[in-house]
This record gives sequence, C-alpha cells and structure tokens, in this order.
Amino acid sequence: NKQIILKDYVHGFPKESDFLFKTSSTIKLKLPDDSHDAVLVKNLYLSCDPYMCHRMRGVVFNYTPPFTPGSPINGYGVSRVVDSSHRSFSKGDLIWGITGWEEYSLITDTSSLFKIQDADLPLSYYTGLLGMPGITAYAGFYEVCSPKKDEIVFISAASGAVGQLVGQFAKLMGCYVVGSAGSKDKVDLLINKFGFDAAFNYKEEEDLNAALKRYFPDGIDIYFENVGGKMLDAVLLNMRLRGRIAVCGMISQYNLEEHEGVRNLFCLVTKRVRMEGFVVLDYYHLYPELLELVLPLIREGKLTYIEDIAQGLESGPAAFVGLFSGRNVGKQVVAVARE
Ligand code: NDP
Repeated sequence: NKQIILKDYVHGFPKESDFLFKTSSTIKLKLPDDSHDAVLVKNLYLSCDPYMCHRMRGVVFNYTPPFTPGSPINGYGVSRVVDSSHRSFSKGDLIWGITGWEEYSLITDTSSLFKIQDADLPLSYYTGLLGMPGITAYAGFYEVCSPKKDEIVFISAASGAVGQLVGQFAKLMGCYVVGSAGSKDKVDLLINKFGFDAAFNYKEEEDLNAALKRYFPDGIDIYFENVGGKMLDAVLLNMRLRGRIAVCGMISQYNLEEHEGVRNLFCLVTKRVRMEGFVVLDYYHLYPELLELVLPLIREGKLTYIEDIAQGLESGPAAFVGLFSGRNVGKQVVAVARE
C-alpha cells in the first residue's frame, strides 16, 4: 500500500519535502471478521484543498482536526468499496468523502461518506463541483450572499474549484460578474470558458483599489472572498451601500506567521455592509439541492468545470503545495488509480 505521510508539523508555506512517500508491502483486501460499520476502499481520486495547510501546521479548528505526523494524511476523495461491514455500503459501490492519501484505506468513521448515484459523469467531479467545493459555492452564493438579479458580483481566486462555480451561479442568476485570478491564462478562462463579464490578473495591478474602481465604477454589491489581505482592504473601499461579503476563505493569509491587518473595516459601518464567514460543513443538508441544480446543467453543457489532474499518488505533495502559488488551473485533483 503506497502512502503519503506528513513528516512533522510545518511552519510557513508547505513544501513537497514536508511529505514522505512510503510503500508498505502488505495489503489486506478484506476487513477483519470482527469489523463493524467500516469500509475498505480503493482510492481513485484525491482532492487538494487549501484548508489542509492548517492541518499540516497542527492548528486545531472546531471543524477539522490536525494531521498526525508519521501517519498518512487524509482528505476528500473518490473511492470504490472493496469490502464493507456497514449496511449502507456494499462491495463495488462508488463513494466520496474523507479518505486516506494512500492506495487503499480502511475507513472506520463513515459519517462523511456519500454514495455516488450518478456515475455517468467524470468521477473526479465528486472532489469538486459534485462534492465539498460544490456545496461551498452553492451555500456561499445562494445562502450567504443573498443575491438578486442584476447585482454586481466580484469573486477572487475566481478560476479555482469554488470560484469558477460561484461565477457561473451568479451569471445564471443574471448578475454582472467580475473575477480576479493570478495569470493571463486564468483570466482568459474566466471570460471565455466560464462566461464572466470581465476579469483581471491581480498580480499585474500595482494599485488594487484603482483596479477595482476601473472594473466597478458603480461599486460592488457582492464580494465572494477567497483570498483576504490586500484584496479585502481594496474591496471594502469599493462596496456599495448594503453590500454583502461572503467570507469563504483567505488563502493569502494561511501560511503567514502573522496575518496582515485590514485597515478599511469601518466601511462596513458607513456602507451598511454585511460580512459573514461560513464553513461548508454547516450546509451539507443542501447537497441534494446542489445536485438538483447542477446535474441537468452539466448534462446540457450549461455548466463548465475545469480540473487540473495530477497523475499518480506520488504527484500529490507537489499538486497540493502548488495551490499556494497558483500552479493549479481549476480544481486540483490527484488521480490515484483507474476506475
Ligand atoms: P483554488 O482551486 O482556488 O486554489 C487556490 C488558488 O488560490 C490558487 O490557484 C491561487 O489562484 C489562489 N491563491 C493562492 N495564493 C494566493 C495569494 N497569496 N493571493 C491570492 N490568491 C492566491 O482553491 P479552492 O477553490 O478550493 O478554495 C478557494 C478558497 O475557498 C480558499 O480560501 C479555501 O480555503 C476556501 N474554502 C472555504 C471553505 C469553507 O467552508 N469556508 C470550503 C472550501 C474552500 P491564483 O492563480 O488566482 O492566485
């Protein structure tokens, strides 16, 4: 069984060398006879998600535990059940949920697992638009942003797993949508593939406030926050009266020893802006609604999803680390085994 192990808790930006690739010679493809409510799975796709960097640092949040150094890391993935002692899962079932970064995993906490019913779509989508990032985009946009037709929407890290979906949801609602991303290719994708009205490369803008004034002469009604830091400060100056900021993430801050200060928070008062953070785990009850919306759209070609698939478990650490330099174009996935 090949595994990706975290060597020790890290400081600063994660590096490939923080991980160890280990091969153990024995694989038992059968659960022990006394096993209860467990599944043994063959992992097909693993998801690289920014929040995993907190787990690498040993930070304790109330919704996700730290990784255990010396053990394989875990995260969202798509797997096939090889053996089961759980009444809801049978051998051969396809599932998505929390699994190990290894070829085969024994999952004893099955509470996060979903059985995949629609297997005609690419299975890797269950790490993205049909999985956790999809629920994040759906809940964050429809529930937290309280969007209305014709509103002006800004999304940062817009070409990523979550951002590309939020942008397309906002277009479906009839909003005016602008995204920021970190390369020319990503900006092209936003406009030509995802149908954003405009997009810009934030790395080429010396003055983010001036850039936002150019793209939003009338201000921003909704900001879907993925990056934090200087971008948030500039956005605050450009919000419209009674605007909303859904704080999904702040990736620019995750690996800093000390978070940057935000200077323009008083704009929340003067502009009567509502700024609300959210965690996807509180919105899993909306998963059926997400599927109801997106499955027909995908099948009709009205919703696009771009993935960046790294091949082989060995490529996992580099793929994950790449999230923090913007190496990924679209949802970063690791393909571990053939279906
Ligand atoms: P992405 O697929 O968007 O990948 C991360 C991207 O972030 C990179 O490609 C890069 O894009 C951008 N980025 C990296 N470093 C910086 C930086 N210093 N400044 C600006 N941009 C940066 O990731 P996801 O879509 O999976 O996640 C997007 C956000 O949503 C993250 O903040 C994540 O933590 C958050 N999230 C929150 C959840 C919740 O429950 N609240 C659930 C899931 C995700 P670029 O080239 O454009 O810079």
